[in-house]
Amino acid sequence: MNLSQGRPYLAIPGPSVMPDRVLAAMHRPAPDIYAGALIDMTASLYPDLRAVARTAHHVAIYIGNGHAAWEAANTNLFSRGDRAMALVTGQFGTSWANAVERLGVRVDRIDFGRNAPADPARLADALRADVRQEIKAVLLTHVDTASTVKNDVAAIRSALDGTGHPALLAVDCIASLGCDPFEMDLWGVDVMVGASQKGLMTPPGLGFVWFSDRAAERCRASDLRTPYWDWTPRAFADEYWQQFCGTAPTHHLFALREALTMLVHEEGLEAAWARHRRLAGAVWAAVDAWGQGGDIRLNIADPAARGNSVTSVRLGGAAERLRAWCEAQAGVTLGIGLGMESAVDWLRIAHMGHVNAHMTLGALSAMEAGLRALGVPRGDGALNAATEAIAGA
Ligand SMILES: *Cc1c(COP(=O)(O)O)cnc(C)c1O
Repeated sequence: MNLSQGRPYLAIPGPSVMPDRVLAAMHRPAPDIYAGALIDMTASLYPDLRAVARTAHHVAIYIGNGHAAWEAANTNLFSRGDRAMALVTGQFGTSWANAVERLGVRVDRIDFGRNAPADPARLADALRADVRQEIKAVLLTHVDTASTVKNDVAAIRSALDGTGHPALLAVDCIASLGCDPFEMDLWGVDVMVGASQKGLMTPPGLGFVWFSDRAAERCRASDLRTPYWDWTPRAFADEYWQQFCGTAPTHHLFALREALTMLVHEEGLEAAWARHRRLAGAVWAAVDAWGQGGDIRLNIADPAARGNSVTSVRLGGAAERLRAWCEAQAGVTLGIGLGMESAVDWLRIAHMGHVNAHMTLGALSAMEAGLRALGVPRGDGALNAATEAIAGA
């Protein structure tokens, strides 16, 4: 006997669960890319993309994944030989810094480890030490998908402002967009990077870069720009094809249209943030309860520094076995640990995108059953704690 038959649930931090409506929106013949419905539909995406980033500024769409969106941001931001400051709080911060460096940008890294957010005071010290004000941009990951730490973007902005340093602030929101509160304009973010396959509930293949007027102005002469990556024609296109530097990603755009309708116009962005927070709370409560009687704990001790969309959990020695059990016996696939000291000890639970209470409670129940079946020592009451969190009791 096996209990995994039924609809599988991929609870990894991207690609996230996609609504059937989003998938169905792609099920159509190839549209004309020179005239007709596609053109008007594409125009309708931009106001909604601004809404999810909370900005009145500009957005460029790329055919590519998150790494492509990084490349887009990097090439527009920098010239060869420029300096950047990377605030590293997990594997994704490291990867972004490495990608910038490969382009010939000099990158100063401040590494805050794997279980704490970036400390604004240390950034301020580093900026003050840059007396010639050479650092052109500070790179920050809002929620690092590996450590699952959430950085305080507004506090980082204040540190920048407090020193009077003119560096731009660029933020990777790929894991947090649509899941965690984020305010591009209110928080003074100059450049923001996103992708389709996480909180935006759309298949992997679209990357986004939002940029302020200040960033547009300061980056006008960046010499790493190439015709393909240049954000200017994409954001200020005179002709349709310029928005994608060639053929549009037609079916992805129809999918995104449906996803943004659901997120922005039906559920509402703030309600989606609140839903993700509540689901995250259930996961945190369950893990805390397991930890009362075993070698199990959340990576991030401070709830204020945890992302709403994914949770990194230490399950001493049992993480791989539990992941295997949950997938084979319960039809739920949990995320592997990433960028931690030992892969066998860590896993990640995603609660990102088109996910509701029964899915998160189901994943936690499957984990409880797996821990039991595998004889892993743990505290009692995890499911009780999770249901209390869901109930808001
Ligand atoms: C997923 C993710 C990326 C990378 O996206 P890909 O689509 O895998 O290239 C980068 N940064 C963060 C924060 C992410 O969550």
